[in-house]
Amino acid sequence: MIVLKTATEIDILRANGAILASVLNRVCEQVSLGQNTGELDRLAERLIRESGSEPAFRGMYGFPATICTSINEEIVHGIPSLKRQLKKGDILSIDIGLYRSGMYVDMATTVPIGEVDEKAAKLMQVTEEALWRGIGMVNIGNRLADVSHAIGSCIEDAGLYVVREYTGHGIGRELHEDPQILNYGESGQGPRLQIGMVLALEPMAKTVPGTVEVLADRWTVVTDHGALAAHFEHTVALTKNGVEVLTRGGV
Ligand code: MG
Repeated sequence: MIVLKTATEIDILRANGAILASVLNRVCEQVSLGQNTGELDRLAERLIRESGSEPAFRGMYGFPATICTSINEEIVHGIPSLKRQLKKGDILSIDIGLYRSGMYVDMATTVPIGEVDEKAAKLMQVTEEALWRGIGMVNIGNRLADVSHAIGSCIEDAGLYVVREYTGHGIGRELHEDPQILNYGESGQGPRLQIGMVLALEPMAKTVPGTVEVLADRWTVVTDHGALAAHFEHTVALTKNGVEVLTRGGV
């Protein structure tokens, strides 16, 4: 069941989104050659708690950290570690969520470590573009699969591949709510988009077709052939004024 949010709830989500965007900006400022992902996680947790919020992911289904840090062939759910240093040419996906005043927000970005090769740069650029194409389809009267189709066709038209095993989701009083939002599909299908829907759109793309595997840590999801993967996410609301990106910018 898709739970529509009230204007008051969207006000809370907007405030939460601004905090989260600001935290992620500050974490990204600390991303550099030789930095380790465990330090980034400590910073994210401190900033979230200082804002009066709680990390959304820590403890969720047993996840042990505040952020997910997924490097290169890792797609999502990588566990930060003080022993995992960033190297030149890596691409790092950071996924982060927070909970405050009863509402969750969720976002992710992928950033380069120093100079990256052309393939990696294109993957990041196209995956982010796919997210914005999806956001552009969040209009009153459109159907959910119009969003999915916009995301998937952007990735596939660029000669890249959608990670099909993971999806976007509704969000609000729960981190993961209905509807599930596929990152591919035919347009014109699924529920009609309505005022009050709050959606976490999160395309994941890779450079080579194939499936995914989960590492022995039982969290880190990787591409099965070692292909690079990228991930971008925003939490968006559909209001009477149209789509609003709640996790954009910062405070
Ligand atoms: Mg999400």
